[in-house]
Amino acid sequence: MGTNELIIQLAYLLSAILFILGLKRLSSPATARRGNMLAAIAMLLAIVVTLLDESILTFEWIIAGMIIGGLIGATMARLVKMTEMPQMVAVFNGFGGLASGLVGAAEFLRFQIGGAPAPSLDAAIAIMAGTLIGAVTFSGSLIAFGKLQGIVTEQPVTYPMQQVVNGLIFVAILAAMTLLVVAPASGPGSGVAPELVYYGLWAGALVLGILLVIPIGGADMPVVVSLLNSYSGLAASAAGFALNNNVLIISGALVGASGLILTRIMCKAMNRSLANVIFGAFGQAPDSDASSGEKRTKADVNSVGAEDVAMLLAYATRVVIVPGYGLAVAQAQHKLRELADQLEARGVQVRYAIHPVAGRMPGHMNVLLAEANVPYTQLYEIEDVNPDIQAVDACLVVGANDTVNPAARDDPASVIAGMPIVEVDRAKHCVVLKRSLSPGFAGVDNELFYARNSMMYFGDAADSIAKIVEEVKQL
Ligand code: NDP
Repeated sequence: MGTNELIIQLAYLLSAILFILGLKRLSSPATARRGNMLAAIAMLLAIVVTLLDESILTFEWIIAGMIIGGLIGATMARLVKMTEMPQMVAVFNGFGGLASGLVGAAEFLRFQIGGAPAPSLDAAIAIMAGTLIGAVTFSGSLIAFGKLQGIVTEQPVTYPMQQVVNGLIFVAILAAMTLLVVAPASGPGSGVAPELVYYGLWAGALVLGILLVIPIGGADMPVVVSLLNSYSGLAASAAGFALNNNVLIISGALVGASGLILTRIMCKAMNRSLANVIFGAFGQAPDSDASSGEKRTKADVNSVGAEDVAMLLAYATRVVIVPGYGLAVAQAQHKLRELADQLEARGVQVRYAIHPVAGRMPGHMNVLLAEANVPYTQLYEIEDVNPDIQAVDACLVVGANDTVNPAARDDPASVIAGMPIVEVDRAKHCVVLKRSLSPGFAGVDNELFYARNSMMYFGDAADSIAKIVEEVKQL
């Protein structure tokens, strides 16, 4: 190993360590910024030392790619709204997968058309695996992006024999991969045209990516994006094996593992299996829960105004705020922070209960509240709030619905049965801020709205909170 190679390998080792330390720090809001910075430094180090590689013949394409990619990334970071983050992550995953797939294509065609020496068996397997996972990730992520952006129907698209069709395509892809791995020596000019089989493999994998994601409902896309994120890591890892690049193997494996862990956490927080998310076509048929019983109206609930809510909160000792998807829609985080500040100034203890799947993406509430500079020490997980929630004077539910629905705890027949909830119905009082009695993402009616200790304050959460703030000021 030459000195240059030694420096590169040591730098790769250092950046792999920094990636792991960075990931570790991302597990707490207190250290997340530093963790992100460490991982960014690790990435910069890995890129810079890779550029020292003597096998690079020319830098023009690399520089052009860096300038164009950097400009696109910087523009998107400025223009994309916080609520559009899931789409942006989906696109990034997709292009990550495509990049890994193209590495596989370059390696394959270098041998097949360019006449380079045949790849070893393990490199050939890695090339095929990188192509398959990369292409599936690319097309699947574009569909996920389309569903989140409203370009592709959010409804699950299902048809008879769907899984059989997917299975057949997968078997055909495996057959093509096996052929290309075991018979690459047939080379150019032989009876079978391996490059045509390889293009067929790409086409099959792209179609499979689309078919795997279309039957999944739009609101389940964050789970799918997390899973595709994991795939993009595996594709990068495969590209690392194809190129014999250690840092790509390690970082790809880290992305693959963390994406899977996040997918698992999200499924657990919804009390659904991954199979149910992927094959369940959730959100397709009208839920029996939503249509059961007679239709109730706003006349059936205890509807209140800003003044009542202000009195309740301002004279409380303990208040728990439970944010949900509606907080993001209303962009009410800054007003909410103002309200919490006012209550604290009056001596009220204010805590935020953060449900792991509140909103539409992991950490959605954390991001919104951090934007409003809510101290992370005020954020509590549901396990920390539920045990003594009966001692809480008032729970303020801001645009949350499924994540506070007692049916998840009490009704084994409900579609959300078993999903952990913030048990706001057990607090002394509960105020729900939302615009109507409409159900949330799961389409399940919520008994909480009709409970004796519940009050509904109808309206857009930002407007409602602004009015409550004005009322609290008057007290
Ligand atoms: P829900 O989707 O259950 O409910 C949100 C509520 O917000 C709606 O009922 C809506 O009622 C209200 N709302 C919408 N806009 C406003 C507004 N401008 N002002 C006030 N209220 C508003 O939200 P939760 O956060 O409680 O639950 C999240 C759901 O999403 C769960 O079912 C979870 O499983 C699912 N999910 C979450 C993912 C994640 O990663 N976080 C991923 C995939 C799914 P109204 O229209 O009457 O105002």
